[in-house]
Amino acid sequence: MAPPEITYPKVVLVVVAHPDDADFGAGGTIAKWISEGVEVHYCLASSGGAGGFDTEIDRDLIPAIRESEQRRAAEIYGVHSIEFLGFSDGFIEANLKLRGEISRVIRTIRPDTVLCQSPERNYQRIQASHPDHLATGEATLRSVYPDARNPFAFPELLEKGLEPHIVSQVFMMAGPNHNFVSDISLTINDKIAALLEHKSQIKDPDALGKMIMSSALNNAREASLAPGVYAELFQVIKIA
Ligand SMILES: [Zn+2]
Repeated sequence: MAPPEITYPKVVLVVVAHPDDADFGAGGTIAKWISEGVEVHYCLASSGGAGGFDTEIDRDLIPAIRESEQRRAAEIYGVHSIEFLGFSDGFIEANLKLRGEISRVIRTIRPDTVLCQSPERNYQRIQASHPDHLATGEATLRSVYPDARNPFAFPELLEKGLEPHIVSQVFMMAGPNHNFVSDISLTINDKIAALLEHKSQIKDPDALGKMIMSSALNNAREASLAPGVYAELFQVIKIA
């Protein structure tokens, strides 16, 4: 696939289904962008209430635990803001309610670039294609085009003073295709540190670090980068 003409982002809105999704899929790239002066905001559809493995923890406490883990992870990169939309983990659908919420956030943050999950199932990495990821990716694309830019979509947003906004490009992660490789060699340690903040999800921290490094090496190899380089892969689509 031909590489797209990427415009270097100024303001990025990251939209994902669960806490830790942004760190797994794009943490190295987010850290790199922020270190180069890009403003990055997070919007999470759920607070990850169906996650974790420790049966001793009261399930009602999980969303708050995971929100604070995500906030600490985001602080490592210097993420500008985080909003949790409060949809139920495991039950996310690409419906009008989610589109309306994501459109509200797009019109508020007014990003030139949105980073989200691919709505296409990746049969090579089925865990990356959790149904919530597919649904959140689909709802995000529907919000980018046409809802956020269409003054007649969700008219209550305009009534609240949220003017239509055109997003010019979307970076999609975890999908079956990629056309953009991001060298994260300088920020892979930040990515691993951020992932280790999601303590309620991690049984073996050492194994997690090794898995992230080996997967980033594989990404670089797949993209024909030099040996020893770490990378994240995206499918970038131009919208505007
Ligand atoms: Zn997830």
